Amino acid sequence: MEELDYYEILQVGRDASGAEIKKAYRKLALKYHPDKNQGDSEAEEKFKLINEAYGVLSDEEKRSIYDRYGKEGLERQGGGFRPGSMDDIMDIFNSMFGGGFSSGRRREGPKYAMDLEIELELDFNEAVFGCSKDVKINYKVPCDSCKGTGAENGEMKLCEYCEGQGRIVMRQGFMTFTQDCPKCHGSGKIIAKKCHVCRGTSYLEREEEVSIEIPAGVDSGNRLRIPARGNRDSRGRRGDLYILFYVREDEHFVREGNNIYIEVPVFFTQCILGETIRIPSLNGELELSLEAGTRDGKQFVFRGEGVADVHTGRKGDLIAQIKMILPKRIDDKQKRLLEELQESFGVESHPHKSTFENAFEKIKSWLKGK
Ligand SMILES: [Zn+2]
Ligand SMILES: [Zn+2]
Repeated sequence: MEELDYYEILQVGRDASGAEIKKAYRKLALKYHPDKNQGDSEAEEKFKLINEAYGVLSDEEKRSIYDRYGKEGLERQGGGFRPGSMDDIMDIFNSMFGGGFSSGRRREGPKYAMDLEIELELDFNEAVFGCSKDVKINYKVPCDSCKGTGAENGEMKLCEYCEGQGRIVMRQGFMTFTQDCPKCHGSGKIIAKKCHVCRGTSYLEREEEVSIEIPAGVDSGNRLRIPARGNRDSRGRRGDLYILFYVREDEHFVREGNNIYIEVPVFFTQCILGETIRIPSLNGELELSLEAGTRDGKQFVFRGEGVADVHTGRKGDLIAQIKMILPKRIDDKQKRLLEELQESFGVESHPHKSTFENAFEKIKSWLKGK
C-alpha cells in the first residue's frame, strides 16, 4: 500500500490552520465512519488513517515533530504513539462528536475492545539482537450460546435506571449534561438473566500460540503491533495484538537508548602506569588503551559499538567508564614500598602544602577584625 502523508490523507495544505484541519477531519470522518460503511474494510482502513492523521496534526507539538522528522520522529518520541488502535481512534472521534456514535456502535459490536495488549519480558541480549518467540495469548471471542449478549437465550429487558433511554441527565450545580447510562452503557437494555455459558460476560477466552519476530534494538516501553491477532468479533474479524516490551537488565552492560555503558574496574597502579586491556563488547571484545595517568571516571567512547536503532538500524556507541580500585589492605612490605615511592616524589607528594601555603595566614587576618 502506498503511504500518503497526513496532509494528503486529510486533503489539506501543509500550512493549513487548526480550524481548517478540524473542518477537513469532520467531513472525512463522518463519510468513512464504520457505522455508515458496515463491512467495508477499505472504508474502515481509511477511517483509521483519517483519525491517525488528525490525532497528530491537531496536536501542535506532535505536528511540529511530524513536520520536521516525519512519522519516525513521532515513534522515536515514544509517549504512546501507536496509530491504528481502534480504541484510540474512537477516543479521538468521540472527543470531536460526543458519544452519540460510539454508543450506536457498541450496541452492534462486541462488548470488549478488539485490540489486545500483552506485556513481554525480554533478556537484555534478546532485545539487543532481536529474536523469535512463541507467546501464549488468551483472546476473546463472542459467546455462541448468547450470541455475545451475555444474556440467557439473548433475552434482554429494559434498563430501569435510564428507563430505556440509554442516556441520563446529570446535574452539577447549575450545569446539566447528558452521558451514557452507566448501567446499560448506552444501549437502554440490560441482561434479564445471565448466560450460563459465559456467566454474563458475553465472551469466552481462547488460547493461542503466536510466533513473534522481535526486531533487534527494541527497548522497554516499545510496542509491536501484530495485525489480526487480537480479540474476535461475531463476524470473525480480529483486532490487533500489541506487544509491550520490558527488557531485563544485564549484569555488565547498562543500556541507555541505543548507547551501552560498561564500568571497567582498573587498579590504581594500572591507572598510573597505563596499560592496554581487553573489555567485553556486544560484538565480542575491544582493546582499551589506558594512557599513563588515566583518571578515575574517565570515559572512552567506541563509536558504533552500541545497539542498532530499532527503526533505522543505526548503531549507538559503547561507553567504557573507568572505576579506579584502591587496594583493600596492604602488608608491611607494600607499605614500605609505598612510603619509599612517596618520598621519591619529594614536594609533589604533598600537594596540599603548596596549595594551602598562604591560606592559613590569610584566614587568620580575616578573623582578627571580628
Ligand atoms: Zn440504562
Ligand atoms: Zn454467553
